[in-house]
Amino acid sequence: MTEIDKELLDILACPIGKADLKLEGDFLVCTRCGARYPIKDGIPVLLIDEAVLPEGVSSVEELECWKEREKGN
Ligand SMILES: [Zn+2]
Repeated sequence: MTEIDKELLDILACPIGKADLKLEGDFLVCTRCGARYPIKDGIPVLLIDEAVLPEGVSSVEELECWKEREKGN
């Protein structure tokens, strides 16, 4: 079971839309868009390319965070 420092978790955010993340097994999961980011050797890999998309989502453009980001631009 991977453990992530709580303070670290507090400052980490989804790289797509800057939403909060929660720890789920060996992944950090975005609380807004549901994208899952792997934790490798205790280090969260917060890269869009490494994200595991939620079920039913085939591209990052469909994610809630992506839409939020597009709105902001
Ligand atoms: Zn997100």
